[in-house]
Amino acid sequence: MSTPSGYRIAVVGCGVGGMAVATLLADAGHAVTVYERFAVPRPLGAGLLLQPTGLSVLRRLGVEPVALDCGARITGIDGRTTRGRTVLRLNYADLDPRLHGLGIHRGALFDLLFERLKRSAATLKTASEVARIDASETQAVLHFANGTAPVAVDLALVADGAHSALRMQAGIRHRAPLYPWGCLWTTLPDVEGRFAGQLHQRFRDSRVMIGALPVGRRPDDPQGPPCITVFWSLPAREIEAARAAGVAALKARFLEHWPELAAPLEHLREVDQIAGATYRHVAMPRWSAGRVAFLGDAAHGTSPQLGQGANLALLDAATLASALATAPDIDTALSLAEAERQPPAAFYRQASHLLTPFYQSRFAPLGWLRDLTFGPLCAFPPSRNLMLSTLAGVRRSWWRTFPLDAAGRPDLPLVNSASAACI
Ligand SMILES: Cc1cc2nc3c(=O)[nH]c(=O)nc-3n(C[C@H](O)[C@H](O)[C@H](O)COP(=O)(O)OP(=O)(O)OC[C@H]3O[C@@H](n4cnc5c(N)ncnc54)[C@H](O)[C@@H]3O)c2cc1C
Repeated sequence: MSTPSGYRIAVVGCGVGGMAVATLLADAGHAVTVYERFAVPRPLGAGLLLQPTGLSVLRRLGVEPVALDCGARITGIDGRTTRGRTVLRLNYADLDPRLHGLGIHRGALFDLLFERLKRSAATLKTASEVARIDASETQAVLHFANGTAPVAVDLALVADGAHSALRMQAGIRHRAPLYPWGCLWTTLPDVEGRFAGQLHQRFRDSRVMIGALPVGRRPDDPQGPPCITVFWSLPAREIEAARAAGVAALKARFLEHWPELAAPLEHLREVDQIAGATYRHVAMPRWSAGRVAFLGDAAHGTSPQLGQGANLALLDAATLASALATAPDIDTALSLAEAERQPPAAFYRQASHLLTPFYQSRFAPLGWLRDLTFGPLCAFPPSRNLMLSTLAGVRRSWWRTFPLDAAGRPDLPLVNSASAACI
């Protein structure tokens, strides 16, 4: 049963996808409640590279200028071997001079989405872990781990992340294996701006990969120096041991491969500044069952090799909001959104999965093959365009891209749809 002004919608998870979809749906007049397991919602994870596609959704939410102000403009990728030989050189401008990415501190992205959510009519319920959802053809009933009374809604949108527990219960056949490799990451000042402008990477075959992504200013130090997030790839089962070895040992490992990191690493003083991350390869043939639907990493988590997860979550959110605005009923809207989103999400999931062993595996020859071939592929226009459109988030599938509009922005039919603004 919908309210006079729209549907009753529950959003599970106050992460990137959950906050975006809740805000857009509340703005459109639906009665939206967000349920978050933490007592105080907080960002988890490293700095992010947002692509022109994800920025389109921030624009629709009205927060793009704030994001551009606190993040760092990224013009391309500069990937080299630890001996300094160029492996990957990609510049957004070679696809279109108006395109760029945005490195942003995860806390800054969280804050701007959270402030925007608070300005919407959505209700937020914290310390509300959803333990189970019973979905039928007409409603979804949420059950909570803290024992509060179940809640019935017209639609439950589940954005509970890659390690989703609710995905298991939905009755949708899927796979979500953990990748054997993960990473350590930390965010440090880059006072002199030595790493500004590009995502920098250093490789030694497929067993060593270090990244430095400019992410702008920390949200808790808005007048402070620009920062970089440093990533260090390693087998998932070694993450805790590497942290336990302490800061000095970690710094030595970083510097052995990338001496230029010395200045930022001076600011690395405690092991608590370093966190570990693991990822899943989530493959679901469909994202909804009755009145429960999945989005973001819960639906299509990938390894962050192509840096697209947050973009895909934002695109899911905007597409679902547009589909609910244009379709005559919820079932049609879910089918419409899924038809639009499955092909690009499948492309990025497959491409990430295919590329990951070239960067993160014990099979060193894959790294040698990457070092030999990626340089020429970056220089040859057809393969360069494939790589650049993949980076920029504008691939619709292996064969098609989203065109750019007259302003040089990705033309995403359902995401940018004007009719999405209100129901
Ligand atoms: C190291 C690393 C680097 C990355 N770099 C990039 C990048 O450069 N660019 C990019 O686009 N993406 C990147 N990603 C991916 C990106 O972080 C994710 O794709 C994105 O955060 C997914 O958003 P989400 O909303 O689906 O889930 P999340 O942001 O994970 O949010 C899930 C939310 O659900 C809550 N929750 C979970 N279970 C429950 C429950 N049962 N009840 C209530 N609440 C619940 C959680 O507390 C959390 O708040 C990276 C990921 C990693 C690990």
